[in-house]
Amino acid sequence: MDLYEYQARDLFESHGVPVLRGLTATTADEAAAAAAELGTPVVVVKAQVKTGGRGKAGGVKVAKGADDAKAKAEEILGLDIKGHVVKKVMIAEGADIAEEYYFSLLLDRAERRYLAMCSVEGGMDIETLAEERPEALAKVPVDPNVGIDQAKADEIVAAAGFAEDDRAKIAAVLIKLWDVYREEDATLVEVNPLVKTGAGDIVALDGKVTLDDNAGFRHEAHEALVDQAAADPLEARAKEKGLNYVKLDGSVGIIGNGAGLVMSTLDVVAYAGEEFAGSPKPANFLDIGGGASAEVMANGLDIILGDPQVKSVFVNVFGGITACDAVANGIVQAFALLGEQGKAVTQPLVVRLDGNNADEGRRILTEANLPLLEQVDTMDGAARRVAELAASN
Ligand code: GDP
Ligand code: MN
Repeated sequence: MDLYEYQARDLFESHGVPVLRGLTATTADEAAAAAAELGTPVVVVKAQVKTGGRGKAGGVKVAKGADDAKAKAEEILGLDIKGHVVKKVMIAEGADIAEEYYFSLLLDRAERRYLAMCSVEGGMDIETLAEERPEALAKVPVDPNVGIDQAKADEIVAAAGFAEDDRAKIAAVLIKLWDVYREEDATLVEVNPLVKTGAGDIVALDGKVTLDDNAGFRHEAHEALVDQAAADPLEARAKEKGLNYVKLDGSVGIIGNGAGLVMSTLDVVAYAGEEFAGSPKPANFLDIGGGASAEVMANGLDIILGDPQVKSVFVNVFGGITACDAVANGIVQAFALLGEQGKAVTQPLVVRLDGNNADEGRRILTEANLPLLEQVDTMDGAARRVAELAASN
């Protein structure tokens, strides 16, 4: 999950990284009130969008006093920055900038460690700097087992070529930024610019943080950082039910057991769809995992059928530890459960059962004689049939 700048600011603050005060606003009047509350002669009105280059796009503006902050907020709210419409601004204390630096810490997957990047030339587009003058961007590997301790911080500031007098102060901030990275389970912490103020203080003026969603279970507080308004409502509902669901753009609902099987099902359905009118494609990824109980099956069908784009559904199960008869019973009970909830299945379902106890599973489904459900015994055949149904439905 990528954070907004104001969220990164708050995280930085909670870990002792020096930041300036900042308040958010969604209207120009709120922006004026925020500027008044900050009370500094100069404030900066900053678009809160999850993309860089806001400054260049007119999304960062200096304002003098509350009225000016209101005027600047009016200009920025509603602005389209690289396809992101600004709905919120942060009103931050104005900084007296003497110098702008760059620092980032990221996960280097290929090298199985972290990589710190640092430059005395910050503020600008770092991709441009990396390309045009790579020698100005220090790249220092960071051992995950050690992190940025004093020695590593000293190494980074020396490699970046900071003036001797500034090194200790900057190194101390890098150690704090490491605390953010490690304690919050981030995969990216970027500060551009990290500034030195006229008074000689080091301050993180902008923050870009990506948190590792896979570590979400040990960070209850991260839940509150999720942008609910931007989240897909079906994905949100699926998450509530503990389902592994990803919304896609097509019209064929997909349920399978095991991420690998579901991934290949997406491919096979997309391929089969090419034969039919409108080339139907998968509408989602949904892995119901090992259990495949009636409840999980019912929840899965409920979510998928809640997507108005879905015209047909493919249930693709390879029986392993959970045998096909158990899955078949799950499907039968799921139909009953949905019926009781007044959410009867409305779209055709194609079921392919294979693997452990497939014959028994197929028999159970045949005997149940469920409306709108048909069985096809091969994965390719079922994919073809479900695509055909989506095209004609
Ligand atoms: P980005 O363009 O999306 O990376 O947004 P930044 O937050 O990095 O802001 C862009 C630029 O605006 C910075 O590099 C600074 O030069 C300038 N800026 C941001 N905050 C302040 C501030 O408080 N005072 C002054 N004078 N300039 C600022
Ligand atoms: Mn920036």
